[in-house]
Amino acid sequence: MKHLALGSLMALCSSMTFAEGTTVFINADILTMDADFTVAKAMAVRGDRILSVGTEAQVRSEAGEDSSIVDLAGGTVLPGFIDAHTHPVGGGASSVFDNVGIDRFSTVEEALEYMKEATEGQGPLNWALFVNLDLATQSFEDGLVTREHLDEIAPDTPMVIWQAGGHKMTVNSVMLDLMGVSDDTPDPAGAQFGRFEDGRPDGNLSGAALLFGALGVIEPYNSYDRIEGSVALAKEWNAQGLTTLGVAGVASPKDWDVLTELSARDDFPLRTRNYLQWGGLVMWDQAGVAPGQGDDKSRIVGWKISADGSNQAFTGLQREPYLNSDNLGLAYMSQEAIDSAVVKGTKRGGQMAMHGNGNAAIDNIISSVQKAREAGVDVVRPRIEHCSITEDDQIAKLKELDISCSFLIAHVLYWGEAFRDTVFGPEKALKLDRTGSFERAGVPYSLHTDYSVSVLSPLEMVEAAVTRSLFTSPDTVLGEEERASVDMALRAITSVPAFQLLSEEEIGSLEVGKLADFVVLADNPREVTPDEIGEISVKQTWMNGKQVH
Ligand SMILES: [Zn+2]
Repeated sequence: MKHLALGSLMALCSSMTFAEGTTVFINADILTMDADFTVAKAMAVRGDRILSVGTEAQVRSEAGEDSSIVDLAGGTVLPGFIDAHTHPVGGGASSVFDNVGIDRFSTVEEALEYMKEATEGQGPLNWALFVNLDLATQSFEDGLVTREHLDEIAPDTPMVIWQAGGHKMTVNSVMLDLMGVSDDTPDPAGAQFGRFEDGRPDGNLSGAALLFGALGVIEPYNSYDRIEGSVALAKEWNAQGLTTLGVAGVASPKDWDVLTELSARDDFPLRTRNYLQWGGLVMWDQAGVAPGQGDDKSRIVGWKISADGSNQAFTGLQREPYLNSDNLGLAYMSQEAIDSAVVKGTKRGGQMAMHGNGNAAIDNIISSVQKAREAGVDVVRPRIEHCSITEDDQIAKLKELDISCSFLIAHVLYWGEAFRDTVFGPEKALKLDRTGSFERAGVPYSLHTDYSVSVLSPLEMVEAAVTRSLFTSPDTVLGEEERASVDMALRAITSVPAFQLLSEEEIGSLEVGKLADFVVLADNPREVTPDEIGEISVKQTWMNGKQVH
């Protein structure tokens, strides 16, 4: 038998693969994430599938004499990680913007200082593009950022700050000129200029018409190569242990073409499970694109709808007003519109992925699913995206109706303090991303980044769910009793999202017959202290029986 130790394996070039023949991996703690949390010591892979999992003797005998042996030297093996909800294509293009978020700068002053240095000496043909500035979490003496701050930094260069959450931009005067905006340009339909007291636009843009208007003139954003950019990002994702992305949702047939082209390439070793934006139904019909299409690498599983906005932008729809206000947030869809989408989307053969951040939006979604079921419509595995604020009565209802959720856990880590102090107050903030309560109630949940809304690695998400400590004050915990157990948090990046993405027969656990997607970690997440989980090194990532990292 051929025998390779981990050290020599790592030293070989990264293009080494074992797609042909049988490979036996020994000397590892294999957290299979099967229904019983079985821990095995060895695993055999033949072609793209798992042939055997169990004790070393058992696996060696099932694999046969001609197998290659890989000694994992005590590493920990888990199924390839799954991020349940991402936006890889549009999110990738936003990587032309430089991050100035709370994970880099705790104040806006520091961020502005950095932007000034980065922009120094640039002229009208350069671009000063920044993203993730967050006035909810980064403190700022002046309160509001306007074009005056930006004009000081970039008097000649078009400058844009795309704010955290994606719903707002601040631009400078050069950029307003490029957009054809003058002092007396009126607000376009459904969008708004921030304005100085004298009525002139102050550089703040909100609403789709203005954001798309701005994006339309940002040359680096438009010339970004979505294929090559995604291939480059795939390397980073594989390095974090990711082998599957939930895409929620695909914006247009053009974006689906990009995903299809990527899927055909060997240098994009990631599976995607895709939700089509329900609002684009006419487009999808014209293009002949529908749920069920695709293969085990890239497949359309359903439809994405959005019931409300986001809590940090005060547009999540609430049962009670936001802190110190009478604002209840914003319904992006009426109850009737959600009712209709759930019935029609299901009848078109799609699973429903429904964005709901506020507790009232979640009420509306639950009500639609219940009504459809009562009318005899077999709503398949409905899932609530973000599901940020939930009440006890809702968790019971989710259990009763078999509705699962996916949490944007960076809400706790990065925005937890803002939710507590400025958005909801301390009591309601405890109802954020209730991983502990969901676990006790037996309601399945997954974790997601909503890339590029947040950029945590899967293991960093696990750490955030298990510790619930705040980035802005690491000693503070938001909701002790809502802490996830390590096992459930690991399920939330493996077996649960596989189930949510209708793919549990293929991926999400290491069991005989499933696709050979797995990671080899330097340490066992069950054995390190919770605040070390995010730093565990991903030694290897395998997808389809081939080493991709
Ligand atoms: Zn999203």
